[in-house]
Amino acid sequence: MRQGDPLAPFLLLIVAEGLTGLVRQAVKANLLSGLRIGRKEVELSILQFADDTLFFCTDSFSNVVTLKAILRGFELAFGLKINFHKSKIAGINVHRNNILCYMKTLNCAEMAVPFKYLGLEVGGNPRRKKFWEPVIDKLETRLSTWRGRFLLMAGRICVIKSVLTAVPLYYLSLFRAPELVCKNINRIQSRFLWGWGKEKKPISWVSWKNVCKSKQEGGLGMIDVRDFNHALLAKWKWRWLSEEKGRWKYILESKYEEGSEGTHSSLKLQSWWWRDFHKVCMEGRGQGWFQAEMGWKLGRSDRVKFWEDVWVGNTNLKSVFPRLYSLSCNQSQTVEEVGVWEGDVWRWNLRWRRARFERESVLETNLNAHISRTIVKRQEPDIRVWGINDEGCFSVKSAYASRRGDGTCIAAFDLLWKAKAFPSVLTTAWRSLLDRLPTKECLSKRGVTMESTSCVFCHSKVKSSQHLFLECDVVVRVWDLCHRWINILSVQHNALQNHFNSFTLTQVSNKQEMVWKGIWAAIVRSVWEHRNLVVFKQGVVDAEEMFQQAQLKSWLWMKYRVCRFNYSFVEWVLNPMLCIKSYK
Ligand SMILES: [Zn+2]
Repeated sequence: MRQGDPLAPFLLLIVAEGLTGLVRQAVKANLLSGLRIGRKEVELSILQFADDTLFFCTDSFSNVVTLKAILRGFELAFGLKINFHKSKIAGINVHRNNILCYMKTLNCAEMAVPFKYLGLEVGGNPRRKKFWEPVIDKLETRLSTWRGRFLLMAGRICVIKSVLTAVPLYYLSLFRAPELVCKNINRIQSRFLWGWGKEKKPISWVSWKNVCKSKQEGGLGMIDVRDFNHALLAKWKWRWLSEEKGRWKYILESKYEEGSEGTHSSLKLQSWWWRDFHKVCMEGRGQGWFQAEMGWKLGRSDRVKFWEDVWVGNTNLKSVFPRLYSLSCNQSQTVEEVGVWEGDVWRWNLRWRRARFERESVLETNLNAHISRTIVKRQEPDIRVWGINDEGCFSVKSAYASRRGDGTCIAAFDLLWKAKAFPSVLTTAWRSLLDRLPTKECLSKRGVTMESTSCVFCHSKVKSSQHLFLECDVVVRVWDLCHRWINILSVQHNALQNHFNSFTLTQVSNKQEMVWKGIWAAIVRSVWEHRNLVVFKQGVVDAEEMFQQAQLKSWLWMKYRVCRFNYSFVEWVLNPMLCIKSYK
């Protein structure tokens, strides 16, 4: 078989299985003793990942000899050569002389602890800053300012979003990043977003906290490292709770408490890793954000607590009917214990401390109606479900959303990102709606001294930051041209967000309306570009030019983003309504 043959990986699997078989036999015959982990003494002697193999055994010479015999036997049986000198041995709590002796026997090199495996440092301490240095270094290189200098803001946003999912993901999905490290990562990202081309400390026009808000809330939907880290770690908790089998689970179960749900007192004696991973999920009110999202799909209902767990609706019955809960004799019982099977029919059998008063009877009727819809299935096991997601399955995305919480949606931003325009146009419009463009007024607010603060276009004294985009005589003319072009009445608003919201067409579909919103953004972008041209390149103020640039931007978007849009620029200029109508 040639190298690169698609069958090769499968063949490797067969061969690898042979090696595992040999090890298993040796263990059975008491020739090799692997590690015994935890109270249940789960034995671990070999782990394989792709073409990597790791052997584990206790500190004894006979183990090493057996290992050598296994490997030699493997060579003879499969005709594969083992590179002993490329293999490494690491001893944990093993006397130095023993290590030297084993190295000689196996003819291999020594590996220092901590070491790197699959891109992660094994044996390091993630609570130390040093542990995270590779992540920080990688981000620093990827997000260095010189790279950002050649990109538009829209491009930089893309780069930042892609970088976190690359290397740091390994680290973030297994270890809790200390607060300081999260801050550092955010700082690097923020600097890349805002600081380019200039040496001194850049102005973060929008704080990182706000940039991390969703687009509908007026942010850019950037990832907040801390919450992302927690969402990734929560995946382990989900797997821990929802998976029945798995070697990783056996090992952890044996090492830590069996069936541990992670209460504060039981965690104190455990390792930092185990504690971190539970601590993350316990943040927030009550039992924590993670528990709040967990629910059950009822089967035979022997694992589900009637009052405490979530199995009907979105919250537990204890918090929906607190008064009844206090009266219940079934407080800590499972659903199964709160009913009986009469033949094939399930009957609820709630018991109370005393007779109910009238008001409580009403509550009881409500409770019965509430739970009557649920069907207990005798034959099936109870299944854990993740609440936020419709399929009941955990996803890092939904966990992240849960960590972030619900923000308030702002109409203008909700519309803006749906507008039909290039990303660079939209980012400028976004900044204008937030009033976070480096206009003279905004710069002087941030302590940058200006020679004059008069308007670039009309030279009048600037009173409001909306002057540049709405009130300036020159810009009023631009909007005027635009209104006449598409033949609607002018929109008059002194606040940019309101102006954008009411910039609408009647009798068009939603999709077509978004083209119109895109034109709004294009005008803002053109005004901004023209302003920069006048300020930095001594350009001439020209309202017609600004308007035509906006027309061109919107036409280019239609031409490149809408298939079967065959109108020429002239047609677009002469009859935009006809062209828009073709966009369905
Ligand atoms: Zn002006």
